[in-house]
Amino acid sequence: MTDNHLAHRNVPITIIGGGIHGVAIAIRLLRDLPTAAKHLAIVDRHPQPLTQWRCKTERQGMTFLRSPVVHHITPDALGIVEYAERHNRTSELAPPYSQPSTQLFWDFCKGTLAELEARKVYYQFDVAELRWDKGAGRFPFRLISTNNQGFRSRCVILAIGADDCAYVPPEFVQWQCRYPDRILHASQFEVGCEDEQNGTGKIVIVGGGLTAGTFAKSLSERGHNVTLIARKQLKTEQFDFPPVWLGPKALAEFASETDFRRRYEIIQQNRGEGSITPDIMEALIDAPNIDLYPEVCVRNIRKEQAQHLQVETTRGLITGVSRVILATGYQFDLRRYGFLRELITQYPVPLVCGFPRLDTDLQLHPIENLFGSGTIAQLQIGPASGNIAGANLAYERLREKLVTYL
Ligand SMILES: Cc1cc2nc3c(=O)[nH]c(=O)nc-3n(C[C@H](O)[C@H](O)[C@H](O)COP(=O)(O)OP(=O)(O)OC[C@H]3O[C@@H](n4cnc5c(N)ncnc54)[C@H](O)[C@@H]3O)c2cc1C
Repeated sequence: MTDNHLAHRNVPITIIGGGIHGVAIAIRLLRDLPTAAKHLAIVDRHPQPLTQWRCKTERQGMTFLRSPVVHHITPDALGIVEYAERHNRTSELAPPYSQPSTQLFWDFCKGTLAELEARKVYYQFDVAELRWDKGAGRFPFRLISTNNQGFRSRCVILAIGADDCAYVPPEFVQWQCRYPDRILHASQFEVGCEDEQNGTGKIVIVGGGLTAGTFAKSLSERGHNVTLIARKQLKTEQFDFPPVWLGPKALAEFASETDFRRRYEIIQQNRGEGSITPDIMEALIDAPNIDLYPEVCVRNIRKEQAQHLQVETTRGLITGVSRVILATGYQFDLRRYGFLRELITQYPVPLVCGFPRLDTDLQLHPIENLFGSGTIAQLQIGPASGNIAGANLAYERLREKLVTYL
């Protein structure tokens, strides 16, 4: 359904973002209270839910998830295992933690998305502006789309991911301005759409995390010579944060920390600067056409003849480069979301290094009934917040409040 289906309606609960978090919260709410369907809208700029997730994983050529099979979009932990058993696909659960293949995960999700479709809660609606008319009746939020359609809501959950906050290291900004079609952030690059004219030209990937590793593996399998440059030594880890961060003890200790800057530091320490899973690392080491350059910095990028680039590094010159991919991650900052700009200027939400200081119930104080889930909620949910598992942790906090809006 598109934005004009929502025009002029009053919706009790609106979730902005139909990604993993928005969908996972909606599914949990609908399973807890089936009548919630009448009171709920998920709005997203894409025509289908989970489009962003699908694009991201396909663009990189990611074949298996990093997280164990129990983390997915429904509350039944064994949902994917049972689905795999029913469809004779248990071979798509990889050891050691039964990580599902990306295809298995997606096929399972498709079945669940049918639930949302049947209940008609998902709308294609690109939010251009969110307004809050404080004290104006039961539906104080106004959502306006890029097509200038609007509706009102009583409560809004921001499940907007971090993709609007792609991070380009400062030294790369000038080079990217000079060669914008050659130097791309990982979020703009798609494996399989490399410049055909450059055939199997060299590709330089900057970054030491799983995105860098997955791109390097996929591109090398397509015959490209790849150089992966990381500022630090490459680290091998199965998970992107220690699993204790899903348990009550670590979360209680995190909650007892009253200094939010210290909370930010704890998250940085526990998520680190990125790591690569053992299977991908093994593939990188074994591939004959991948050069790994750990503890190396890029000093300069310039054009050479025949459209190629030269990348000058602290370890020497790389010539004949057709593309530079910046797998340098995301740096969340609430101020980078254009649709929130006026709202947070009018009602300043306290920020710590770009993250909002949410209340314990994930409310963006001082704006009442505006909540967050995903990376936006890190200062409350901790290092797991932006991951799939973070959606469950967020729903546990939101549930009690949400039922009061129905
Ligand atoms: C390649 C990759 C692999 C990953 N693998 C794993 C894994 O194995 N395990 C794990 O736990 N985590 C993994 N993650 C991390 C995380 O789980 C994903 O990034 C996940 O997609 C985050 O979900 P989200 O809903 O917060 O954000 P997103 O999936 O980015 O969804 C946000 C949605 O909000 C919408 N939106 C934003 N602004 C607006 C607006 N103004 N109007 C309308 N819609 C808007 C976007 O269109 C988007 O659909 C992975 C991440 C990546 C990039």
